[in-house]
Amino acid sequence: MAEVLVYVDHVDGAVRKPTLELLTLARRIGEPVAVHLGPGAEQAAAVLGEHGAVKVLTADAPEFAEYLVAPKVDALQAAYEAVSPAAVLVPSSAEGKEIAARLAIRIGGGIITDAVDLEAGAEGPVATQSVFAASFTTKSRVSKGTPVITVKPNSAAPEAAPAAGTVEQLAVTIGEKSKGTKVVSRTPRESTGRPELTEAAIVVSGGRGVGGAENFPVIEALADSLGAAVGASRAAVDAGWYPHTHQVGQTGKSVSPQLYIAAGISGAIQHRAGMQTSKTIVAINKDAEAPIFELVDYGVVGDLFDVVPQLTEEIKTRKG
Ligand SMILES: Cc1cc2nc3c(=O)[nH]c(=O)nc-3n(C[C@H](O)[C@H](O)[C@H](O)COP(=O)(O)OP(=O)(O)OC[C@H]3O[C@@H](n4cnc5c(N)ncnc54)[C@H](O)[C@@H]3O)c2cc1C
Repeated sequence: MAEVLVYVDHVDGAVRKPTLELLTLARRIGEPVAVHLGPGAEQAAAVLGEHGAVKVLTADAPEFAEYLVAPKVDALQAAYEAVSPAAVLVPSSAEGKEIAARLAIRIGGGIITDAVDLEAGAEGPVATQSVFAASFTTKSRVSKGTPVITVKPNSAAPEAAPAAGTVEQLAVTIGEKSKGTKVVSRTPRESTGRPELTEAAIVVSGGRGVGGAENFPVIEALADSLGAAVGASRAAVDAGWYPHTHQVGQTGKSVSPQLYIAAGISGAIQHRAGMQTSKTIVAINKDAEAPIFELVDYGVVGDLFDVVPQLTEEIKTRKG
């Protein structure tokens, strides 16, 4: 069976969920071979093997942390040359998309970004994308070279499928050209303890209807009861009620969680562009005519300050 390279997103060997989703999708088109760069290969290999990686190719070098993405592309290219895979899958983060694009150029392969599903096809993997503010679903396949495909988080539920996960060292030469952009400092963001917005399985977002920064704790409390990330509409972030990094939409982040709850958000096309592929959408809005109700699975017409706290309490009670 053809091998499929899966680029591993991890923090010191703690593998992030989108990579496990990629392994699940990779198994539909071949045998997953994981590429793990940086420290923690042994720790990562256990989880990667559990989710179907037959091999874990690993390399560590100070350049991976000292420079921007190019040294990682050198390593992924070395893995590509060692394996000659049927496809290369990379998580659709900002970094992942840059790595994928650079690799595709180097190997002369076609690239598909932000896929939301993948299936095997007679002439190579077929990727599903959601385009034009999610108003169309397209299916594409790469027609030239090895397909390089980035896949959005939450596109598949990770499934365990134990495989060997044998760790093999990858020989990597980092070229001088890859040292063009050096990292000069790093400041860790203060952790909120909540999941990353683009990776979260549940997102609770607040909009102009929240009425002020002082009311956002109402949204945060619901998010915390569900273990969710907090999002916001552009109206809310432009008003300074919540940080811009939490904006969902065309000019913000694109999310595709299992559950998206929008409170006090009207559902403008630019907001929809960033959340319309969510699996289940719930809206709470006091205006029964709000456009958001056109795309919801469940809608509550009511004042969010009545509805959201009751919902939070009910969830807490049911969770015991
Ligand atoms: C180029 C461009 C890019 C854009 N990019 C983005 C983007 O990335 N993301 C984004 O979100 N927007 C974006 N916008 C802005 C977008 O057009 C809307 O203006 C914005 O999404 C509106 O935010 P909102 O729904 O919070 O506010 P509003 O449209 O004002 O809606 C507020 C809603 O809250 C409801 N409400 C009020 N009080 C309550 C209450 N107490 N309880 C329940 N409901 C209540 C109201 O009925 C209303 O439906 C962009 C616009 C442009 C032009």
